[in-house]
Amino acid sequence: MIETRRLTVVEHPLVQHKLSYLRDAETPTVHFRKLANEITLLLTYEATKDLPTEDYDIETPLEQMTAQRISGKKVAVCPVLRAGVGMLDGVLSLVSSARVGFIGMYRNEETLEPVEYFVKLPADIAERDVLLLDPMLATGNSTAAAVATLKRAGAQQITLIALIAAPEGVDHITRDHPDIRIVVASVDSHLNEKGYIVPGLGDAGDRLYGTK
Ligand code: URA
Repeated sequence: MIETRRLTVVEHPLVQHKLSYLRDAETPTVHFRKLANEITLLLTYEATKDLPTEDYDIETPLEQMTAQRISGKKVAVCPVLRAGVGMLDGVLSLVSSARVGFIGMYRNEETLEPVEYFVKLPADIAERDVLLLDPMLATGNSTAAAVATLKRAGAQQITLIALIAAPEGVDHITRDHPDIRIVVASVDSHLNEKGYIVPGLGDAGDRLYGTK
């Protein structure tokens, strides 16, 4: 695992194995969806590793013991529409009591600038740890805008879970929002002139929903 203070690249063999199928242009939508959720589940394991725990007294069939349970703040999961929704089940299968918020954002394909068209967040988001889901951290424009939206709503502790990032996107988020933690399966080579991550996996939304 490559880890700096704010960026974690999860190099676990299961993650990298599944990512290789996700990238493959031959992988059909039905498998792509399953793989995106499976990788997200594994990234969530890493993204939640600092959740505080507290002592909890239980009785096993053999004896009494003091075990650990997660304490403190609760979790909100916020996918960026539409591709982030393809990661939602992966998080919820581990953190089933999380509240879910949605941020609708699309990219103007000419300017590459984000356009926000829908926001619905849990009312108590200020009291929750937020897991922001955006599969492709490309220019970072839409992710940075989504982070700003979460902060305006009061979110204080935000972790971005992405499948693949470009170095440009990581730099953008680190510059604009140095407090955000980023957990990804890979940081790829670069962005092409159309703003796609190379080698990447293509358009995550199209591959998740079979729209191309
Ligand atoms: N969004 C995608 O879906 N893919 C990319 O490569 C970049 C942005």
